Amino acid sequence: MYEGIRSPAIHIPKNMSEFNSIALRYPKARIWAGGTYLMSQKNYYPSENNEDIIDLEGMEELKKITRTERFVEIGSMVTASQLLYAGKLVLPDILLETLQSLASQIVRRQVTIGGALSIPNLRLSLSTTLSVLDVTVEIKLFQGNKVSTQWIPISRLYEKNGNLAVNSDKMLITRIRLGLDYGDYQRFIIVEDPIRNSQECVIFAFQARRTQNALNKVKFCMNFPHKAFHINKEIEARLSGEALPINPERVNTISYELVAELRKQHSSITELQLERGRRMFESVLHGMNSQALLT
Ligand SMILES: Cc1cc2nc3c(=O)[nH]c(=O)nc-3n(C[C@H](O)[C@H](O)[C@H](O)COP(=O)(O)OP(=O)(O)OC[C@H]3O[C@@H](n4cnc5c(N)ncnc54)[C@H](O)[C@@H]3O)c2cc1C
Repeated sequence: MYEGIRSPAIHIPKNMSEFNSIALRYPKARIWAGGTYLMSQKNYYPSENNEDIIDLEGMEELKKITRTERFVEIGSMVTASQLLYAGKLVLPDILLETLQSLASQIVRRQVTIGGALSIPNLRLSLSTTLSVLDVTVEIKLFQGNKVSTQWIPISRLYEKNGNLAVNSDKMLITRIRLGLDYGDYQRFIIVEDPIRNSQECVIFAFQARRTQNALNKVKFCMNFPHKAFHINKEIEARLSGEALPINPERVNTISYELVAELRKQHSSITELQLERGRRMFESVLHGMNSQALLT
């Protein structure tokens, strides 16, 4: 049955310069981080078109977490559980909550930050949350015999449907930089298992700053895995500057506008997901209203 199938060659670079020469020499080779996504794919091994593998495990420089007063830098090979452990005192609650929600403890030990951000056609929890925080991503691009390095805001890494906007065959995420000046109201909500029931899953991340009784710097992302990675700059701008508490009728109006926009842009989102998304959005705004009334 497996006759004629060759084993993939596995390259294990120890540093960036070794990685560069391997990536340029074997442009089709697949990057392997924790392997949790790759191994969950049908026919990942053995398969007839077995591509070579570049295993990042040997690259110590991608496993570092460093901190300054203004930001934290996290290497792409840092795992979800390492980040949870090391970041308890520094990272925003919304990120800790997101990391905690990822699968099980065993899977979290394996899932890397770079791997979670680099699945070509599927956005999950971590991309959703990081896109509402002030995160930039360092990527290396391999074109012809050249390597270039860029820092880009994480939201520019993805298209509207959640696919990677950068050709994943020619890209390596090396680290992310997370600004530490984040808002004081943050919410992360996920409904349904994103792996087992992605068709009905909705992932929502929201953050804002409250100054006196007004809202500021609102950012949110509503993610429908495989369908839509929705960031709505117009609604964010309208909410920023709103006085708190926001009139419940206005909350209702804006949430229906959000749904209308989602329906217009993404026909594959189901009515159940739209209703879930609308309720999440409203509940977050009502939660903020309640807090404003209590303080
Ligand atoms: C049982 C289970 C439950 C899960 N539950 C959740 C969940 O609740 N929420 C959630 O968000 N996710 C969940 N995940 C998904 C998990 O986030 C993904 O599997 C993620 O891709 C894991 O990262 P990894 O390091 O294992 O990536 P890998 O499987 O090694 O790689 C994933 C993809 O990214 C590419 N890649 C890896 N590293 C880089 C890099 N540095 N630069 C460029 N490309 C790279 C690979 O080539 C591949 O295409 C779950 C996974 C499993 C198996």
